[in-house]
Amino acid sequence: MIEQIKQAGGARTPLSQSYVARALSEGEVELADAMVGRVAALAELADARGVRLMIDAEHTYFQPAIDHTAKALSMQYNKEWPVIFNTYQAYLKGSYTLLMEDMERARRNGFGAKLVRGAYLSLERRRAAAKGQESPIWDTLQDTHDNYNRCMRAVLREVKESGAELMIASHNQDSIEQAVQEMHRLGLPPTGGGVYFGQLLGMADSLTFTLGQNGYEAFKYVPYGPIAEVLPYLVRRAQENSAIVQGAAVARQMDMLRSEIGRRVVRLGRAG
Ligand SMILES: Cc1cc2nc3c(=O)[nH]c(=O)nc-3n(C[C@H](O)[C@H](O)[C@H](O)COP(=O)(O)OP(=O)(O)OC[C@H]3O[C@@H](n4cnc5c(N)ncnc54)[C@H](O)[C@@H]3O)c2cc1C
Repeated sequence: MIEQIKQAGGARTPLSQSYVARALSEGEVELADAMVGRVAALAELADARGVRLMIDAEHTYFQPAIDHTAKALSMQYNKEWPVIFNTYQAYLKGSYTLLMEDMERARRNGFGAKLVRGAYLSLERRRAAAKGQESPIWDTLQDTHDNYNRCMRAVLREVKESGAELMIASHNQDSIEQAVQEMHRLGLPPTGGGVYFGQLLGMADSLTFTLGQNGYEAFKYVPYGPIAEVLPYLVRRAQENSAIVQGAAVARQMDMLRSEIGRRVVRLGRAG
């Protein structure tokens, strides 16, 4: 299949011919080119099936390679509608500028973005401290919240104006409420307007459920793969999210679970 894509002019920009290659060894360039070929095959399939392909964001020290791949694929595939969604991490101080630049560049193409807060907070801070560099992460959580909401509003405007699409990937109730209000203000419909919501499987089910019930396009992110690869992913999620899985948040989730169980038991009782 990769051969077919290459023949169709779809091998995209081989990393070996790009500026990224200057920072990589020969072996790394070979691996990176193979990776681009595999992602291109996925993009081809997503395009053929009419589904979106969301590319995750990772650590800053190798994110430029992911961005490069995502941009090359976006130029190729986002012409009719956004097949490729790159991910923007709002906890990064540079994320708003990057998002604005990418959005501007993609005006002639379709633009798809997945917006997250970012999952590698402690690793990024530790890495920057060890190298004696300024942390790429906002100093306070409130800064991250403000930046997330600012990025979200900017892309929502783009959804309205140029047919861009946005996946609001978050468990943060306040951000989701702000998104819903802004969609309403802009006249974007809950379904079919290019705005999606996503939560991880097993997290913030009450938000996914409420969004879905009210006609919004809400998705559950399901980790899928060999157990040896999926388990570390789940452990990372548990570690990175441990701060929110505490105290008041747990009590609120338990209350909601209790009332949902109660609601279902009453419904069953009525049906019997
Ligand atoms: C569908 C989906 C896809 C995702 N894909 C990715 C991905 O591709 N790449 C990725 O990196 N992450 C991804 N994530 C995880 C995401 O980045 C967050 O780690 C997670 O969702 C928690 O953020 P929240 O928006 O849900 O908000 P909240 O529930 O409000 O979480 C806030 C958390 O933000 C963190 N935080 C951020 N900035 C700061 C700061 N300056 N100071 C202190 N704490 C801070 C803290 O850990 C805090 O607990 C994804 C999440 C979802 C739901």
